[in-house]
Amino acid sequence: MEPFVYTVNPSRVVFGSGTLKQLPRELQRLSLTSPLILCTPQQTSQANAVASLLRDASIAPAGLFEKATMHTPTNVTAEAQSQLASLAADSLISIGGGSTIGLGKALSIRTGLHHICIPTTYAGSEMTPILGETEDGRKTTRSDPKILPGTVIYDVDLTMTLPTGMSATSGVNAIAHAVEAAYAVNRNPITTLLAVEGIRALAESLPVIVKDTANREAREKALYGAWLCGACLGTVGMSLHHKLCHTLGGSFNLPHAQTHTIVLPHALAYNLPSLSEEVRLKLGRAFPGADGDAVKGLNELLEKLGVERSLKAYGLKEEDVERASEIAMEREYPNPRKLVKEEIREVIRRAWAGEPAR
Ligand code: NAD
Repeated sequence: MEPFVYTVNPSRVVFGSGTLKQLPRELQRLSLTSPLILCTPQQTSQANAVASLLRDASIAPAGLFEKATMHTPTNVTAEAQSQLASLAADSLISIGGGSTIGLGKALSIRTGLHHICIPTTYAGSEMTPILGETEDGRKTTRSDPKILPGTVIYDVDLTMTLPTGMSATSGVNAIAHAVEAAYAVNRNPITTLLAVEGIRALAESLPVIVKDTANREAREKALYGAWLCGACLGTVGMSLHHKLCHTLGGSFNLPHAQTHTIVLPHALAYNLPSLSEEVRLKLGRAFPGADGDAVKGLNELLEKLGVERSLKAYGLKEEDVERASEIAMEREYPNPRKLVKEEIREVIRRAWAGEPAR
């Protein structure tokens, strides 16, 4: 076996059904008494339920900030921070997907407050020390161990309301973390185990959820898979696929999970010829029934999920393809296959047009 380095991210994870009820106990464990609750405008009812749960346990929330926005714009963070300054909050609770958790991270790194995450999508941000923020149409990312949320409560019950389409794309977003972890330059046997198990759990459960959105067993498996894939994202470096989605999301304001879903087969097909036989097989076998061919497995999965396959459907214009490829090539980053501008432009063009990956 090759020597390797594996960094364990120190966070406490509570997983299961009905686990939200453990929130008061988790705050008490940390001697926290006054959290600011964060959510998007679409999830105020879940945030209000958190507030009542705390009040029932004699914990008075410091307040509620309900304007979390995708891609963590810095003006929204500034507004939340100014609300925070007028409150005696000693902690942050983010209930929602990656957008809300991103806001929690942005506030936590600025204030040092403990951050408890209650994820309701499969995006995986809760498992990472990474924060992406958008200012003046540019999304920049930084990584700092202090960004990693201290406590994560996964409650399957909260994912039951995630709409079917969003469940599918958010699940593929999670798969994308595991796919890139499997060929990361700094991969190791532990993240590869997590990646393969995470892909398998999601590839098995997402088609069931799409047919039967209230299937509890499938929901449980999907959240479990999302946790594992998020752990991959938080541990090893990502490559071409994440760079492209970061560019398309941050600079062209495309929706995060849907963009990941459309780009992943193209980015994987680009990198596949440069992967070792071992990595190719491990990835291929993670997709049930794919005969060891990961691109085939992914294409079949997306077919079953009935997701949109073109970026133009989300408003990307043909003339943006050139600019997106320029931004994606601006800075070097590790990738299994050499990045060639014309070929990267073709990857984006195919994703824009919704052509099959090859
Ligand atoms: P999101 O958080 O924007 O959620 C999408 C929509 O679904 C929102 O309106 C949200 O309120 C709603 N929603 C979420 N859960 C729901 C539920 N259970 N029931 C009903 N509605 C629900 O989407 P996302 O894809 O989870 O997150 C995207 C953002 O997260 C992007 O900004 C992305 O960059 C970031 N992200 C960051 C990391 C990281 O490690 N830093 C990782 C993944 C994603």
